[in-house]
Amino acid sequence: MNILDVEDLVVEFPGRHGTLRALDAVSFSIAPGEILGVVGESGAGKSLTGASIIGLLEPPGRIAGGRIRLQGERIDQLDHEAMRHIRGRRIGSIFQDPLTSLNPLFTVGQQLTEAIRTHLRLDARKARARAIALLDETGIPAAAQRIDHFPHQFSGGMRQRVVIALALAAEPVLIVADEPTTALDVSVQAQIVALLQRICRERGAAVMLITHDMGVIAEACDRVAVLYAGRVAEIGPVHDVVRHAAHPYAAGLMASIPDMDSSPERLAQIDGAMPRLNRIPPGCAFHPRCGQAFARCTRERPELIAAGATHAACWLHARTTASPLSPHPSLALP
Ligand code: SF4
Repeated sequence: MNILDVEDLVVEFPGRHGTLRALDAVSFSIAPGEILGVVGESGAGKSLTGASIIGLLEPPGRIAGGRIRLQGERIDQLDHEAMRHIRGRRIGSIFQDPLTSLNPLFTVGQQLTEAIRTHLRLDARKARARAIALLDETGIPAAAQRIDHFPHQFSGGMRQRVVIALALAAEPVLIVADEPTTALDVSVQAQIVALLQRICRERGAAVMLITHDMGVIAEACDRVAVLYAGRVAEIGPVHDVVRHAAHPYAAGLMASIPDMDSSPERLAQIDGAMPRLNRIPPGCAFHPRCGQAFARCTRERPELIAAGATHAACWLHARTTASPLSPHPSLALP
């Protein structure tokens, strides 16, 4: 059974000028021991997808359709309290800035033992021993001493390891990591990626790794979902998407896989910008930027279609497609 199933997830933001659809029929699954990368430019919907899964969607955002299942059980309709319990116990989360997850007034040991005792029935002594073991597992040297230090006494990379230990405290089945390496320097990024991979393999946990950094995706993930304008543009095994992306947008992203020391928010290889939510064009949302667009792309919205080892929302892979060699006359293609 999959750890996570997201089916046709729709997230909307009602506003004075109408309702904006920020996620539109997003679907994917993550199996035990698997790392799924969720990638895309800023505003593509990747963090919203993560926030929907962990039940921390900021109002007025709301889940307006679809289903989210954790180990087969629906969690998208749970109340705040039930979701809070699941978030601590069965879903661990890691964010870009470790300081948002750590309280500066308490030692890391106090925070870890509290998290452990909230979710697991352990006495104080056993909880502390477990906290030390977790710090050790996440690569904190001299964990038995450092457990009594405050967050500010750790470096950025070490703090992120503490946050990972905190996320693991209740032995979650799913870890949602949103840009966990972005604030870290390159060598530390690689260590955190290796740590997530090890946790995933050894514990059988599923990891959803949200990032705009294709280098991290290529390094860390088993499969990748590429989001564009709130929809999945392509999903498949990471090696196939990186080497032979079937969707022109995904192909552009993969061509931008940088040296590990650069992480462009805006991609030099794809002209133009992703449309705002209130300006999503009809047909394929990518068509104004797509060098392979043809007439059908401007009229009909493609669903995910099997394309070799991956699935891509692109008419180039439809059996009945018109010839991509006859572009629509209204399109000013590069
Ligand atoms: Fe390009 Fe058309 Fe494919 Fe969209 S559907 S990515 S516009 S070829």
